[in-house]
Amino acid sequence: MGRLVWLIFAIFLAFSQKCQGKIEENDVNEGPFKVYRIVPTTGWQLEEMIRIFENADSEEADFWHPPSVVNQTVDVMVSPKNTRFFEKFLQNGSFPFEIAIKDLKKKLIEKEGDEKLSRFSRSGFSRSRRIFVEKIMRDGPGSGLVMGEYYGYATIVDWMKRIADRMPRLASILEIGRSAEGRGIFGIKLGHDDGRKPIVVIDAGIHAREWASIHTAMYFINLMANGHDSDPWIRSYFDNIVLYILPVLNPDGYEFTRNDRTNPRSRMWRKSRSQQRCAWDGQSTKCCHGVDLNRNFDFRFGEVGASRYPCSEIYHGESAHSEPETRAFANFLMNLGDRLKGYITLHAYSQLWIYSYSHRKFTYPANIEEIRNVAARAVAALGREFGTRYQYGTGPEIIYAFSGGSTDWATEKLRVKYSYTLELRPTYEEWNGFVLDKRQLIPTAKETWAGVKVVIDQIILEYRTKIARVFRQRVNAEALEKAEQRRISLKGKCSDESQSCLHWRSQNPDICRTSQSAMLRECPNMCDLCHLVLP
Ligand SMILES: [Zn+2]
Repeated sequence: MGRLVWLIFAIFLAFSQKCQGKIEENDVNEGPFKVYRIVPTTGWQLEEMIRIFENADSEEADFWHPPSVVNQTVDVMVSPKNTRFFEKFLQNGSFPFEIAIKDLKKKLIEKEGDEKLSRFSRSGFSRSRRIFVEKIMRDGPGSGLVMGEYYGYATIVDWMKRIADRMPRLASILEIGRSAEGRGIFGIKLGHDDGRKPIVVIDAGIHAREWASIHTAMYFINLMANGHDSDPWIRSYFDNIVLYILPVLNPDGYEFTRNDRTNPRSRMWRKSRSQQRCAWDGQSTKCCHGVDLNRNFDFRFGEVGASRYPCSEIYHGESAHSEPETRAFANFLMNLGDRLKGYITLHAYSQLWIYSYSHRKFTYPANIEEIRNVAARAVAALGREFGTRYQYGTGPEIIYAFSGGSTDWATEKLRVKYSYTLELRPTYEEWNGFVLDKRQLIPTAKETWAGVKVVIDQIILEYRTKIARVFRQRVNAEALEKAEQRRISLKGKCSDESQSCLHWRSQNPDICRTSQSAMLRECPNMCDLCHLVLP
């Protein structure tokens, strides 16, 4: 019965009108976007959910919290045209479900203020706000933007440039490449670079709608820039590591989500904004913009938790690193070489600290014990801030299996030891994961920093141990070299005490080595030990 229903649903989808990649102008009367919370209670129900997740157009069913295991909730946003059929499909398949959000647009307007306000803030700040911001800018190198707010991409880039200008020896701006629509992908480099220190890279915003991750990366930049003079711990980071932070890896997608913040079609956009690609899905040819950049990396490309349909929200792209954003970032990481010891990518939401590998259960990198141990300590430190509870593990252990992600690629191909994907607040039980209440932004960033610090400290600890070892080796090598030079320069410059030296050696050719202390006293010249007896 359930399979039949799914078939009917699929046939309906095939005939439904698509408008992927373009925002409908006249969507005012089309009815509400709804978010369904479904709990698959049988293996079959779970399989069906996974099948829709991997094959549906994001226009039809956009998964906010994808299916993972039986009895774990699944959240799906469904567009107005499809809600009736989707509900029928759920009812006929006996899926336990509830409507978590009856009208998403209404919720977004409540959250983001009215549309007039959001259009206004899109173009910049109000005059009074601009004056306020300019006043703050004068107060310190990292100031200039008030934390706890969302900002447009151009504003974020200008802000990073200002920080770099104000801290010329400690910070610099970098552009790793250009996005599909031609935006520069910028980041900031923080720390004294002597060419040897370990490197940690943090990125955010690879998924467009995950705004809290972008804010968290900005908060880290702000903290570093302002903390150099006042916080010894932060200063030790400037001295001991080089930290790169790239707050918006998918600037086209991010700007797209900001275009019309109260329209679910734009605000809930996940992918990049690359040109339309078309594919035959068995019933018709569909064309859509964008690639899920975190499925486009060269690790088990296209194997699991990704889709080959361009209209899917988890479309993996034509081939590994086919997208300019992925290519630019992969090249950037590759060029850092083996100094790259830590890589953290910030996402939202579900409160998870994920390590490799995520394509298959019980598949781990070589140093899994240390990797897991650092994750456990990071999650504990994070929780001590405000009591927020995170789970840690690989993708399939705590959320779902996926391949083509950046951290797995960094672990396997670049051998980055501490490589983590973080899913920030809130837990998956909350409805508003992508539109986190602004009051939660700073606490979210603050607690995440507490976790990230554990990773950075671990890297410094390991690196320092290494420095100490290398240093000792170098000192020893220098001492040996000096001793050797002294031996050569003093050879034959002393005399033997005993007359019998040559005789003894004829009896025992190895005597210089086997009776060194006696020979040092009696036959230093014959045994080439002048450098030890002469002052
Ligand atoms: Zn994400």
